[in-house]
Amino acid sequence: MSFKIEKLARNNIRNLNPYESARRLQSTGKIWMNANEYPVSKDYLINQKNLNRYPDFQPKKIIKKYANYIGIIPEEILVTRGADEGIELLMKAFCNPETDSIMIFPPTYGMYKITADILGIINKPISLNNKWQLNIKTILKNLDNVKLIYICNPNNPTANLIQFQDILILLKYTEKKTIVVIDEAYIEFCISFSLVKYLKKYHHLVILRTLSKAFSLAGIRCGFILANKKIINLLMKVISPYPIPVPTSYIAEKALCKREISLMKSRISKLINIRKWFISKIKLFKSVEKIFESNTNYILVKFYEGNKIFEFFRTKGIIFRNQNQQIGLLNCLRITIGTYEECKKVILILKNL
Ligand SMILES: *Cc1c(COP(=O)(O)O)cnc(C)c1O
Repeated sequence: MSFKIEKLARNNIRNLNPYESARRLQSTGKIWMNANEYPVSKDYLINQKNLNRYPDFQPKKIIKKYANYIGIIPEEILVTRGADEGIELLMKAFCNPETDSIMIFPPTYGMYKITADILGIINKPISLNNKWQLNIKTILKNLDNVKLIYICNPNNPTANLIQFQDILILLKYTEKKTIVVIDEAYIEFCISFSLVKYLKKYHHLVILRTLSKAFSLAGIRCGFILANKKIINLLMKVISPYPIPVPTSYIAEKALCKREISLMKSRISKLINIRKWFISKIKLFKSVEKIFESNTNYILVKFYEGNKIFEFFRTKGIIFRNQNQQIGLLNCLRITIGTYEECKKVILILKNL
């Protein structure tokens, strides 16, 4: 009998279903509308001569530029290997395995639960209500041993904003007890709803940001944690020694100059126009039951036969994200807004169904 090496693994890892990222699930297909990436890439020439050296622990120039961009001080920023690393660092720094909990609000981004599962941290899910808002009363009753609350705003995959008043109630109620994390991965698509201005007032507020979505740089893996200095100092204890590769830092620095930021803003307004036009077209089709309001670069669409539509588009080389198995999302597909031409193809196929 052969020895089962799996038996050596931690129990929670043996039982774990890993995150099914868009890239893990499918790498074929011509048109990718499944990972909420920006549909076109910018070219950056990398001519680096110092690749023999380890990078800075925290690249100062990037921090300074990001601080300028959002209007906070550099001491309140940590650069991470994408927002996903931010999610993990917070749990590593704040949660004792087996005893402490995180709280999440499904249907939402999958990495909160999976990261907790990997680290052996208890996960308390409290479903969003039928308007996809927080069930405040239930939340307040269940905060014992909760160290971190993760709110995705705007929420992925539902694309809506979480009511500002509810977040404020939570912030008031959790002071000195629980860290409230707002995942603002898509906030550039509705920037006036950012909670950055509350960092001064609430020292238990943490905001996650990324260059992966609006900045069109998912490939370089760069994100940010914004928080009070004391939280940033704690996180610096758990982050790896050289988290940001030299090429990443080089490109991020260019992407954060004034000119690039204003280009990013104009790309966003174009993309929002495409989204509005795309919604106005596809809501007319008989196969579509409902399109949910979007404040992001993707839309959640409920079809009458979601799985069939998903598979049919796949045979045409167009990949969506199937949300059918998520709580409350029967027959729902998440469609990333692509270029005008890509969206036109989707419309044409739906028309000919
Ligand atoms: C894409 C996404 C992330 C991950 O961002 P990276 O910076 O690429 O790691 C985090 N949160 C949400 C809600 C996302 O959709």
